[in-house]
Amino acid sequence: MSLSSPALSSGSSDKRRVVVIGSGFGGLAAAIRLAAKGYHTTVLEMRDKPGGRAYVYTDKGFTYDAGPTIITVPFVLDELAALNGKTIADYVKIVPCDPYYRIFFDDGRQFNYNGDQAQLEAEIARFNPDDVAGYRAFLDYSRRIFDRAFTDLADASFHNIWQMVKVAPDLIKLRAEQSVYSRVAHYIKDPALRQIFSFEPLLIGGNPLRSSSIYSMIHYLEKTWGVHFAMGGTGALVRGLVRLLEDLGGTIQLNARVEEINVEAGKVTGVRLADGDVIPADVVVSNGDVANTYRKLIRPEHRRKWTDRRLEKMRYAMSLFVVYFGTNRTYEHLPHHSIILGPRYQGLLGDIFDKKVVADDFSLYLHTPTRTDPSLAPPGCECFYVLSPVPHLGGGQDWDAMKDEYAERIFKALEKDHLVPDLRKHLISKLIFTPKDFETKLDAYAGSAFQFEPILTQSAWFRPHNKSEDVDGLYFVGAGTHPGAGMPGVISSAKVLEKWL
Ligand SMILES: Cc1cc2nc3c(=O)[nH]c(=O)nc-3n(C[C@H](O)[C@H](O)[C@H](O)COP(=O)(O)OP(=O)(O)OC[C@H]3O[C@@H](n4cnc5c(N)ncnc54)[C@H](O)[C@@H]3O)c2cc1C
Repeated sequence: MSLSSPALSSGSSDKRRVVVIGSGFGGLAAAIRLAAKGYHTTVLEMRDKPGGRAYVYTDKGFTYDAGPTIITVPFVLDELAALNGKTIADYVKIVPCDPYYRIFFDDGRQFNYNGDQAQLEAEIARFNPDDVAGYRAFLDYSRRIFDRAFTDLADASFHNIWQMVKVAPDLIKLRAEQSVYSRVAHYIKDPALRQIFSFEPLLIGGNPLRSSSIYSMIHYLEKTWGVHFAMGGTGALVRGLVRLLEDLGGTIQLNARVEEINVEAGKVTGVRLADGDVIPADVVVSNGDVANTYRKLIRPEHRRKWTDRRLEKMRYAMSLFVVYFGTNRTYEHLPHHSIILGPRYQGLLGDIFDKKVVADDFSLYLHTPTRTDPSLAPPGCECFYVLSPVPHLGGGQDWDAMKDEYAERIFKALEKDHLVPDLRKHLISKLIFTPKDFETKLDAYAGSAFQFEPILTQSAWFRPHNKSEDVDGLYFVGAGTHPGAGMPGVISSAKVLEKWL
């Protein structure tokens, strides 16, 4: 990985110069697309490794992917590799997971969720035979949403209101003003099945009770293309994309925090780094947190629309409390991805998103990557992470003070025979990441794990645009802009740039 970009710093290249701030999936995808178009492209990343939320921690022989683990739309990766005449398999091995997830209910019931229609319908029938027909109707609804919202809108630019006006009638017809949960409840009657088919917005920071039903398409995406995992972990995918960028002539500079985006006469001229270096650029693409890019990197006199006040009034998505841990034994009964639902659904969502309190109960996602790739742990050991959705920092919790106790509570809840029995007896590695870490390590406004909450009034045209309205030559990719969080979303956000660049 190159650690400097002399041609860019000296301004000696006659190609148009692009600086991408941040090496999350959105930033890497943007850099790959722009390098492939012949721009002189440099990614500036403030951390010591690329990947952003897909950072990798290592401890005592365990390799922990910090964030995304579920790859849902592998073709968006192939589209990037195709820019270099390759497929993503030339850079990283991606394998399907079966089941996609196992969902554990508090009353002991389990549901295996995968893409096989007959198996899925048999699972549904086990819960409530009357809901099989309703599920088929929901799947058809999810496909229609996908056809409109993903195929036509994911890489639409939404820079002017007319694009929104053009799609509004379709969105009204598809009931996009309703929540994912209400659409699922319209088709499916069983309360447990309603949870299974509505929890997916949580994967992108949304509250199923009020995320626009546009996000029901996640079900169709998963059902059609499957759930995949990168061998070597998501970190191997990040490294693969960095190689792809370098193959295309782009460079990445680590430990390079941008402190200011320089603007003259309303147009970007480059960026200033924390060490004082100024890097000239014709185009700046920010993959950093959108609210903090505007608030911290662009002086207020250059911001007519995105004032601090406006940004403070936006609704921010929940945060996450994550414990990465390793045990000195394996748990072969576990699948790769487990969703462990607590006793309450609506009540818990209300605590996290509205009351912003940390409840006594929780719902968890348990990642066990060694079920697919044992190389992520020492021989005979199991590698895990467990995450609990929690309020963003607006809840006022003192995470430094409460993190050990909260991790202990989660471990206790996991110590059931069908989950991770005797976890604490076999624990040999543990790292904790709290909402406070999202703020300090990733510069996430309010410590949100997903930036703006995906509600209708913060989606599509209503989400901060990919092309800045305030500064010429400034663009945005990543979770805070259109189309939104999640790997498919942030990778698609880079495609939107091609409307202008
Ligand atoms: C725990 C967790 C689990 C998840 N699981 C999944 C999953 O399974 N599947 C899925 O599809 N999605 C998942 N997501 C969501 C997904 O990971 C994110 O939406 C996506 O990775 C965000 O990518 P991004 O392009 O917005 O950039 P980010 O990953 O947010 O990266 C932004 C980068 O910008 C850098 N940066 C910021 N400011 C500056 C600056 N001033 N100077 C230099 N660099 C800067 C940061 O250091 C960071 O590296 C998960 C998220 C989390 C947190």
